[in-house]
Amino acid sequence: MTFAMKSPVDGAALDPVDATAAADLPGLVAAARKAQRAWGEVPVHKRADRLRPLKQRILERADDIASIVHREVGKPMAEALLAEVLPSADVVAYWCDAIEELLEVTDVELDAIAYPSKAATVSREARGVVALIQPWNFPVALPLRTLVPALLGGNAVIFKPSEVTPRSGALLGDLFKDLLPEGILTVVQGGGDVGSALVGADVDLVVFTGSVATGRKVAVACAEKLIPCALELGGKDAAIVLADAEMERAVNGIVWGALGNAGQNCAAIERVYVVESVAKDFTDKVVAAVKALTPAEIGPLATTAQCDIVKRHVDAAKEAGNEILCGGEAGEGSHYPATVVRVKDASTALVTDETFGPVIPIITVKDADDAIAKANDSRYGLTASIWSRDTKKATALARGLRAGVITINNHAFTGAIPMMPWSGVGETGYGVTNSPHALDMLTRPRALLVDKNRGKRELWWYPYTPVLTALARAMAVLRGGGGIGARIGALFKLLSLIPKRLGGG
Ligand code: NAD
Repeated sequence: MTFAMKSPVDGAALDPVDATAAADLPGLVAAARKAQRAWGEVPVHKRADRLRPLKQRILERADDIASIVHREVGKPMAEALLAEVLPSADVVAYWCDAIEELLEVTDVELDAIAYPSKAATVSREARGVVALIQPWNFPVALPLRTLVPALLGGNAVIFKPSEVTPRSGALLGDLFKDLLPEGILTVVQGGGDVGSALVGADVDLVVFTGSVATGRKVAVACAEKLIPCALELGGKDAAIVLADAEMERAVNGIVWGALGNAGQNCAAIERVYVVESVAKDFTDKVVAAVKALTPAEIGPLATTAQCDIVKRHVDAAKEAGNEILCGGEAGEGSHYPATVVRVKDASTALVTDETFGPVIPIITVKDADDAIAKANDSRYGLTASIWSRDTKKATALARGLRAGVITINNHAFTGAIPMMPWSGVGETGYGVTNSPHALDMLTRPRALLVDKNRGKRELWWYPYTPVLTALARAMAVLRGGGGIGARIGALFKLLSLIPKRLGGG
C-alpha cells in the first residue's frame, strides 16, 4: 500500500488518496513547462500580488492545517500550530515583500577604456520547471519554504508530498487554489516510484528534502541528466553544555530541542555533550524534566517503521552497556516514550546514526575543546548549539563547529525565520532554504551586454598582427606585470600602439 491509511494518534482510518500514475508525469511536466513560459514573463511585483492572499488563507485555516497534520503524523496540536502554521504565514509575507528587490536587475561596472560604449546587466531568471520532493516530518511548513520563492521566481513547480502525508500535501495545493494560472503548481501523489519518475521527467531542477539514502539516489539521477539538485538531508545535531551554562535554561531548551515533534526533526538534538563538572547536575535535571512531560506532549511517532528504528537504536545502546535513565521501552502502536540515555560507549548507532525519535543521549566530555571535537566527529552537520553564559567565548567556539546553523543558548528554531539560511554540511547535503541565498538555486543568473560601439572592429578581433601582440604585452605590464618604471613605459607604448591598431595595424 502506497499511502499511510491509519492515524498514528488512535489508529482511526484516514481519508483515501488517489495516487498519480508515474506514466502521467511527462504530460504534467510538459503542461507545466508550457504554462511557465507566460508565468516567467509576469512582472515580479504582480507575481507577488497573486501570492499575497496565501498568508491570510493559512492563518484563517490554521486549525484545519494543524488538525490534518496532527491526524496524519501525530504532531501535538500546539506544535502543529506553532511549527506548521505561523512560520508558513511568515514565509509568505517575507517573500512577497522582498522578492521584487531581490530579483532586481543589477548593472555591471565596466572599465570604459577597456570596454568602450558597452553596458552590461545581470538578471535572475526562472529555472523553468522545478520538482519539489518532500518528507513527512513538517509536511506544510517545509514545502512552503521552497514553493513560495520558487513560484515568485517565475518557476512552475511539481510538488510531491511524502506518501505518509498526502492529505497535508493536498491541503497545501488547495490553499493555492485560483491564485496561480493553470499548470503553475501541480501536486502529484505517490511513493518513491512517483518521486523517481518525477526526477526522470523533463524538469530543470530538483529540490529534495529527505533521507541521505534517497538523496544520494536523487543526486545520481540528476547527475546523469546534468540538471542541478538541492539536497537537504538528515542530521545528528549536537548540543554542547559548558560549565557556566544557565542550567535551567539549558535543561529546558535541550529537552525541547531533542523531543519536539517526538524527535522527528532533522535538527533534533541527538547528542548532548556536557562538561564533566556539571554533568551529574545537568543529567539529573534533564531526567526530572523529561519525567514531567505527558505522553500527549510528545505524541506518537509518525509510523511504526520509524518506531522500529528508535527501538533498534535504544536496544543496541542498552546492550552495549549504556545506561537508560528513563523511558527505553516501546509502547502501543507507534508510541515511544521520551528516553534519556547516559552514554558510555559512543560507537553505538544511537550516537552515530540519525535516530529520529524522542531520545536524549548524554555524553560527558572533559572540556569545551573536547566537546567541539566530538560534536564535529559526525558525517552530518545541520545545526548545533552551545549553552554558556559567556556568549563571547561561545561565539568564538562556534567558529570551530562544523554545521550549517549554530545557535548559542537556543536550538534550531531559526528554521522558522524566513530571512535566515537553513543549510548543512557533509551528508546533510548542500541545499539552502530560507533567506535570499535560496534564490541562488531557484533562479539562474543571466548576463546581458549591449554594445553601442559603432567602430568597425574591437582591438582584440582579427587580424592578429605584431601590433596587437605588442599591445597585449604592454597591457600585461600595465596591469601589474612590471615595476613602476616599466608600467609608465607600457602606458606610453599603449598610447602609441592603439591608434596604429585602430588604423588597421
Ligand atoms: P525519505 O528519503 O524516505 O523520503 C523523502 C521523499 O522522497 C518522499 O516524498 C519519498 O516518497 C521520496 N522518494 C523515495 N524514493 C525516491 C526516489 N528513488 N526518487 C525520488 N524520490 C523518492 O525521507 P523521509 O523519511 O520522508 O524523511 C525523513 C528524512 O528527512 C530524515 O532523514 C530527515 O533528517 C530529513 N529531513 C531533512 C531536513 C533538512 O532540512 N535537512 C528537513 C526535514 C527532514
